[in-house]
Amino acid sequence: MTAFLARCRAIAGSAHVLTAEADKAPFLTDWRGRFTGKAVAVLRPGSTGEVAQLVAACAEHGVPIVPQGGNTGLVLGGVPDGAGNAVVLSLVRMHSVRQVDPVNHTITADAGCLLQQVQQAATEAGCLFPLSLASEGSCTVGGNLSTNAGGTAVLRYGNTRDLCLGLEVVTPQGQIWDGLRGLRKDNTGYDLRDLFIGAEGTLGIITGAVMKLYPQPAACLTALVAMNSARAALDLLTLMQDQCGAGLTGFELMSDLALELVATHFPALPRPFSVRHAQYALIELSSSQSQDHAETLLERAIAAALEQDIADDAVVATSLAQSRALWQVREHISMAQAAAGKNIKHDVSLPISRIADFIAHTDALLDAAYPGCQVVCFGHLGDGNLHYNIAPPHGTHHDAFLAEQEAVNRIVHDSVHAHAGSISAEHGIGALKRDELVRYKSDVELNMMRAIKKALDPLGIMNPGKVLT
Ligand code: FAD
Repeated sequence: MTAFLARCRAIAGSAHVLTAEADKAPFLTDWRGRFTGKAVAVLRPGSTGEVAQLVAACAEHGVPIVPQGGNTGLVLGGVPDGAGNAVVLSLVRMHSVRQVDPVNHTITADAGCLLQQVQQAATEAGCLFPLSLASEGSCTVGGNLSTNAGGTAVLRYGNTRDLCLGLEVVTPQGQIWDGLRGLRKDNTGYDLRDLFIGAEGTLGIITGAVMKLYPQPAACLTALVAMNSARAALDLLTLMQDQCGAGLTGFELMSDLALELVATHFPALPRPFSVRHAQYALIELSSSQSQDHAETLLERAIAAALEQDIADDAVVATSLAQSRALWQVREHISMAQAAAGKNIKHDVSLPISRIADFIAHTDALLDAAYPGCQVVCFGHLGDGNLHYNIAPPHGTHHDAFLAEQEAVNRIVHDSVHAHAGSISAEHGIGALKRDELVRYKSDVELNMMRAIKKALDPLGIMNPGKVLT
């Protein structure tokens, strides 16, 4: 190991090969603080060339590599296991925006750029980079690509995968693949780019990317609509899509319990309705034409929803500050849940048409198994993505309930499977859901995934133990 570390120091400089426990510590614990792993060292290369040389050194010495961006991942994908034989390879020193091309509508960035930095660079060029997550001030483009992150604008612009045109990747052998093409059409064989997107660092290290930009909308409006059921929320989504088309850029579902938690733990945030309703939809409408056009579209759609008894009540933000405050309510749900105590989380997706059935069916199963348990359900309804989190019944200690995690997961994930859904919508598999993946994917699918892993990473040094066993 001494020879290996000496070689790493020669490549990246001693200051960027961290071996002291205190220096390594921030890279070893996951964002939620659930797990702390061990590592020989944390490597912080400053260029693609350095990444390639470090990976070649790891391959030669048989040292496993855990790539890490902002370490905001939620499935234990970016932290090492407890074995202590791996290195964490952090991309955070590689944070240059390489090029903005407003005519091709593309931005080329280092993988370690923060998402917020890319959004900002796009804005400065008069464009929009639409990927938007609550973690955007800490997560990196490389992490977004490796998890195929979703967020609040997927309904209109798609996941990170849909926003990527080209990649630069260091292979597990330490070779550099320059696939930084800004092409919207390129049918020249297998799409290697798509293999690395969503691979959670198990096939190689993404060092740079060409991402799509869009025109800035002329106006963007936010509304909060109250309804009496999840089925009504689906009716509202259909109505909004019919009336607003591509102008509908966000459609978030929040249950009454989710909003009550925010009201309890963040009382300074707005509570727009004087009475409680079963479900709420946070809607964002964008117009490429004008503020007037956006207002007319939104008001007409909401009026139709009220008239058809789909919606019970609605508020439309009349200023940027009001709009931000409504979004803050949505973004504070996870923090309010954390303040209320531990809970069992699920990030699932379903065919949109089956969401109301899934919620009714799964709520009933859980209530039968754990009477009084509290389901905090919210998510990106427009993408069929629910965060379906279960808190213990009043009076049950959180730790006692957490001991039931496997049984609760079985109820929820079996129900997701029965409703033709996915057990991971946008957070990935990491180490957390690795065993669940085996349960729900077919052998045919798993064997193809294993064959790809073996072909690209025959030594098995790229993020071992993540995604696949
Ligand atoms: P990390 O956590 O560092 O890594 C994630 C995975 O990618 C790991 O497996 C890691 O090994 C791999 N990886 C990282 N960089 C590279 C690279 N350059 N090359 C190869 N592999 C790499 N996610 C959503 O999808 N939607 C949301 O709305 C959302 N909201 C969130 C809100 C909060 C408050 C938090 C804390 C997280 C949220 N997340 C969300 C999860 C998380 O922010 C995303 O998964 C994000 O894409 C991770 O980026 P990161 O840079 O932090 O990656």
